[in-house]
Amino acid sequence: MITIITNTNINTGTEAGERADGRASNELRPLKIEAGVLKRADGSAYLELGGNKILVAVYGPRELHVRRIMQPNRAVLRCRYNMAPFSVDDRKRPGPDRRSVEISKITSEALTPVVFLEKFPRSTIDVFIEILQADGGTRCAGITAASVALADAGVPMKDMIVSCAAGKANEKIVLDLSEWEDKEGEADVPIAMMPRTGEITLLQSDGNLTPEEFEKALDLAVEGCKKISEEQKKAIIARYGD
Ligand code: UDP
Repeated sequence: MITIITNTNINTGTEAGERADGRASNELRPLKIEAGVLKRADGSAYLELGGNKILVAVYGPRELHVRRIMQPNRAVLRCRYNMAPFSVDDRKRPGPDRRSVEISKITSEALTPVVFLEKFPRSTIDVFIEILQADGGTRCAGITAASVALADAGVPMKDMIVSCAAGKANEKIVLDLSEWEDKEGEADVPIAMMPRTGEITLLQSDGNLTPEEFEKALDLAVEGCKKISEEQKKAIIARYGD
């Protein structure tokens, strides 16, 4: 879509107080989630959020042969977040980097609290998150899609983790930052939570916010998570029925 900027706010790409893509401050980008898209994985999901396109494959629970990380009384949940070389404007060098290692780690930590890992001693559950196209907020979108793929794999969980970011861009607290808002904005607060209890399993903060702004961003991110959670459930119902 081509946006024609008619005022002098060329640098910010927005009319005063309005978001560049025309969204309200509490509005998510268009969201689509589909479960069970890969026939060879035990569970899978495909998610689009704005321009993000993300594919997740889950394998397991299955026996873990790596003794160094094997746990005698529970499974381990291994997550790998990977950006395809063609997913971003400047070609991404293939393979892990500092950022993807960090996102893999926080994804695993965000999902682990809901999974009944103790049911599968000496096992692993492997989650592969492939970013096919990135448009800001990929860590949250990846976590949301991973939850659906875990549910699709039949992994027992006490809730389906959902993730969303809010932050500050163009002096306003806004939900679900676009790539431009993420890069040029003042702050980004990605969260993940258990929708049933409201427990937060991921909370990051990048940039500067006053305590009041932080509270507002957190409330907005929780509101976004609740909306996305409904779409996760719909994706599972569309595949398996009620
Ligand atoms: N991005 C990029 N090249 C990279 C990493 C990220 O163009 O090597 C873009 C991508 O659109 C991503 C956004 O920058 O979604 C914001 O990245 P960040 O590290 O804040 O993570 P995210 O918001 O995706 O969770």
